[in-house]
Amino acid sequence: MQKIAMKTPLVEMDGDEMTRVLWKWIKEMLLEPYIDLKTEYYDLGLPHRDETNDQVTLDAAAATEKYGVAVKCATITPNQQRVEEYHLKQMWKSPNATIRAILDGTVFRAPILVKGVSPTVRTWQAPITIARHAYGDVYKNAEMKIPGAGKVELVYTAEDGSETRALVHEFRGPGIVQGQHNLDGSIASFARACFAYALDTHQDLWFSTKDTISKVYDHNFKDIFAEIYEAEYREAFEKAGIEYFYTLIDDAVARVIRSKGGFIWACKNYDGDVMSDMIATAFGSLSMMTSVLVSPKGYYEYEAAHGTVTRHYYRYLKGEETGTNPVATIYAWTGALRKRGQLDEIPELCAFADKLEKAVIDTIESGVMTGDLAAMYEGEAKSVPSRAFLQAIAGRL
Ligand code: NAP
Ligand code: MG
Repeated sequence: MQKIAMKTPLVEMDGDEMTRVLWKWIKEMLLEPYIDLKTEYYDLGLPHRDETNDQVTLDAAAATEKYGVAVKCATITPNQQRVEEYHLKQMWKSPNATIRAILDGTVFRAPILVKGVSPTVRTWQAPITIARHAYGDVYKNAEMKIPGAGKVELVYTAEDGSETRALVHEFRGPGIVQGQHNLDGSIASFARACFAYALDTHQDLWFSTKDTISKVYDHNFKDIFAEIYEAEYREAFEKAGIEYFYTLIDDAVARVIRSKGGFIWACKNYDGDVMSDMIATAFGSLSMMTSVLVSPKGYYEYEAAHGTVTRHYYRYLKGEETGTNPVATIYAWTGALRKRGQLDEIPELCAFADKLEKAVIDTIESGVMTGDLAAMYEGEAKSVPSRAFLQAIAGRL
């Protein structure tokens, strides 16, 4: 059999622990036998990040800007315990945060549906994709404890020295205060990423904030989305037969629960953080969730939504077989290969991605799966270790 040839390399970012093990197996068992895999490899495993003083993460992000499509394995975000475990020179930043800051992207997360694992919400028939704004608000705040009576104000000092003030509160006793910000440029990038992704995936786009209460801050998000939609996207949306609509977050929550699914829900940073966990859990689990970072310039980085599955890795190191679910990582590869196929006009590569995803779904629906899914499966499930599951998928492929 002739292997599928590629034109442009994928940016491949390897990672850590159990997902690094799965990464290798997926390539060996499901990809390399069929594709003449062309990748530019960056080892984002923690030891190599430490060796290169995290330069490898910056290089991988730069390569994504050069080639346009990346696939990333889960990586450790070091904390104090990891600094000791890996004898790190310093507590390196989260690679995801570093890459996101460089690509200025929005993260889209969607569940992978299989028959036999029903969403908790009965009406949901199609995936709901969460688009989370990944900059600012409470994640870049300034906060303070107020020890006792006194006045708190917001002060903006313009470059010419002039001041604008807003009273936050006249404290009579102790309390707390918090300042948040966002940037018109970042909100505009977020809006464009959402509109472009809706067109790309042919789905309606919902956007919600709390603009009735936050009449300046949240209202600014609403206005920027509306302006960009009217000026740049309305025509394309109408032509594609898809819809953009804005609604208050309370209303959005109620509508989402009553919906059939099959749309993109754009959320501010905090809303997206919380709602993506709710959506993932209600659809099944994080190990059945795809995740893609889309930059406003049209770069794509595909990954799994879960972490490096540390607990399983320690068992693996002791020689035990683990039932770590590889589905989200396989979908990171299929997402990246399909996008590469579309950009380079290689229909066989797109078709391969479709077939691999179908082999994954068919394997699970035939009753063969890893333990996390078997625990939720409504039919008769055979719970198998990761390698046996990958072999079953390869068999169907
Ligand atoms: P995690 O790796 O997602 O795992 C948490 C637990 O969820 C696991 O112990 C396992 O439960 C279950 N789980 C997650 N993915 C699974 C899969 N594919 N198959 C089966 N079970 C799965 O989260 P964590 O333990 O909080 O974080 C571990 C490391 O990952 C941390 O160092 C963190 O920094 C990193 N992390 C990276 C990313 C990323 O790169 N995108 C995201 C999140 C976390 P059981 O043990 O009960 O089976
Ligand atoms: Mg969260």
